[in-house]
Amino acid sequence: MKRTALAVMTGLLFATVTQASQAAEPIWDGNKVEMVSEKLGDGVYAYYANNAKELNAKGGAAATSGGLIVGSKGALLIETMLNKRLNSQVMALSQKLGKKSILYAVNTSSHGDHAYGNMYMPASTKIIQHAQTSTYIHAHLDDDKAFMIKNFGTGRGIEEIKARTGDVLVAPGGSLKLDLGGKVVEIMDFGFAQTGGDLWVWEPQSKVMWSGNPVIAGKPALPWLLDGHLVATLETLRRVDAFLPADARIVPGHGVAIGKEDLKWQIAYLETVRSQVQAAITQGLNLEQTVKQVSMPDYAGYALFGWVHPGLNVPAAYKDLGGK
Ligand SMILES: [Zn+2]
Repeated sequence: MKRTALAVMTGLLFATVTQASQAAEPIWDGNKVEMVSEKLGDGVYAYYANNAKELNAKGGAAATSGGLIVGSKGALLIETMLNKRLNSQVMALSQKLGKKSILYAVNTSSHGDHAYGNMYMPASTKIIQHAQTSTYIHAHLDDDKAFMIKNFGTGRGIEEIKARTGDVLVAPGGSLKLDLGGKVVEIMDFGFAQTGGDLWVWEPQSKVMWSGNPVIAGKPALPWLLDGHLVATLETLRRVDAFLPADARIVPGHGVAIGKEDLKWQIAYLETVRSQVQAAITQGLNLEQTVKQVSMPDYAGYALFGWVHPGLNVPAAYKDLGGK
């Protein structure tokens, strides 16, 4: 499902690339992205691409976001990034900002742009993953790399990636508390959110939550249900919304920090997809007719809407809700 869906996306995004060019242009270029930091609280930093704000505003696709949380004992890095180049950038930012050794690095999912950089982390850094992420990488890294090279291009540092999976694994439905020294961080599984191995990182003092890809970016971005499961994803996002205080900020998977209203926008979108698809199934429509009927133009401001809505999210809802 994931592979097919992204192949569709690739086709759509790269439709304008000249026929002569063999390798399609990547969604964003791992050889060009420049990471910057933003202080969100005492010892709490978001990392994102220097063009993320601008891309997010127009609904475009930005590179992977992450961050750093620094306590008196050491630091936690969120996301190790796509390749050596981007890993080196976040490590350099972390040295400058944290001046502490990185005790832990967490991957919010198995996606290569969040986890391939694990192999470049010092041996002393403990990698934290969801158990399912570790299992997936052990079984599928070669296929995953081939797929990522197809989407992000050759010569982007993906060829040399070797598996480095978690030293500390979060069990399904589990959570983990880390004491960084004067700063306790919570790493949680709220349920299926995009891959089934989705971790959320919560820093309660500054009220910052890292979401990874289940929240790609602020409005007008929409969820990408790459592995289906619209109903479970909606329930998970509702649990996250209920957990977060009103003034919480979220560092999404691919953008600058946002507020709860952006999460509510995504929840409202998924609720509308669910109710409209349910109505279509009740009317006896097939998938093709349902996709046509559930067009939801109010959400079309997202640059990837033409792929993500009819190609992923409506079919996921149709399957979930028992459409035949
Ligand atoms: Zn990502």
